Amino acid sequence: MKPTIFLFSIILICSCQSPDKQEDGGVAYVGGTIIDGSGNDPIPDGVLWVQDGRVVILGTKNEIDLPSEVEQVDVSGKVIVPGLINGHGHVGDVKGIEGGHYSRETLLDNLRKYAQYGITTVVSLGGDREEAVPLRHLNDTIPDGRSRLFIAGEVITGNTPEEALEVVQENHEMGVDFMKIRVDDNLGTSSKMKEEVYRSIINKSHELGYQIPTHMYYLEDSKKLLDAGSDLLAHSIRDKVVDQEFVQYLKQKGVGYCPTLTRELSTFVYEDTASFFSDPFFLKVYSPEEIQPLLDPKRQEQVRNNRNAQIYKQQLPVAYENLKILYEAGVPIVFGTDSGVPTRFIGYFEHLEMEMMAEAGMDAKGILMSATSVVARELQLKDLGLLEPGYWADFLVLEANPLENIRNFRRIVEVYIGGVKLKDTE
Ligand SMILES: [Zn+2]
Repeated sequence: MKPTIFLFSIILICSCQSPDKQEDGGVAYVGGTIIDGSGNDPIPDGVLWVQDGRVVILGTKNEIDLPSEVEQVDVSGKVIVPGLINGHGHVGDVKGIEGGHYSRETLLDNLRKYAQYGITTVVSLGGDREEAVPLRHLNDTIPDGRSRLFIAGEVITGNTPEEALEVVQENHEMGVDFMKIRVDDNLGTSSKMKEEVYRSIINKSHELGYQIPTHMYYLEDSKKLLDAGSDLLAHSIRDKVVDQEFVQYLKQKGVGYCPTLTRELSTFVYEDTASFFSDPFFLKVYSPEEIQPLLDPKRQEQVRNNRNAQIYKQQLPVAYENLKILYEAGVPIVFGTDSGVPTRFIGYFEHLEMEMMAEAGMDAKGILMSATSVVARELQLKDLGLLEPGYWADFLVLEANPLENIRNFRRIVEVYIGGVKLKDTE
């Protein structure tokens, strides 16, 4: 190639990759209230300066002198918060209310839905296939129009340690971020993974450098899993109210607890017409046609007569009580919903989850931190979950302050991921 043509090509490439003004001084969002996610007091009349997808600095208008080349965007009267992070979702399988559609297209569709609802990062805890691997690499760059993705690969199963370790190896070779196991008998309807099997999986996963969140249900299993080294209890304990000995053990282990209250809700709520089906915030993304099958009286009756659904319903108050006890004891509450499974509506369920956490007794500040800094810290999601210099500029601009009412998270004006505005938030 001749040097002149070569140079021309470089100029073309550069101009294609930098369509916005970020090649200059970046953009500063000025005049709003900024909540950084750390638990510190909100910054009134703030400045959030973003460049190349990351936060440069934040503070009050008086504290920060912006260079003249920085573009300023007035967000007076608005509230800026870090983007929400779902620490337990599933991505890529669900279309409408049906599973079995795993593809790159479904992955992108699901990730766009999360982003539209302000969930800027999702950790997919299982059911992840090859198609997800190239998408997770965008965790290192700036995604456009969809949320960031972390994956756990195949949920590890096996009757013997050898069988299970083969799955660990396959996941490792595929390039996952986490390993995931289930220790549960689904209310006595299936066989539970043996202790010797999960111990070997956990040990091997740690050796390879992975955290290992666990699906569990029973208090006794949770104790054993903590002893075996599980890094996250990925659901609520639902059979019994936790005892003090367990609370102390969980704190001593420093392991997080992910309540997924909407998972429980989804098992029984369709025994009737779910009240949220008429919620405009639901209908802005989901169509009446999509939910039609859930309005079928026969289907609703099946849910009313389903033994497991009714047990999960009956045990939900135990999950509420355990969340309150563990939160008040200072256990890290890791935000997660188990959405992305059929009838657990991606994006919307995260907002329901926050409202259920509030009903269970968590204050708004605790919920906000759970869904931003706490989940990011516990799952070691690098440079996410806080608005702090050097962190990714993933944030929401809201009409009202979610610390005053958690439902204000619904009042999304704009969603930014890596400093890039999501176009489709209306
Ligand atoms: Zn799950």
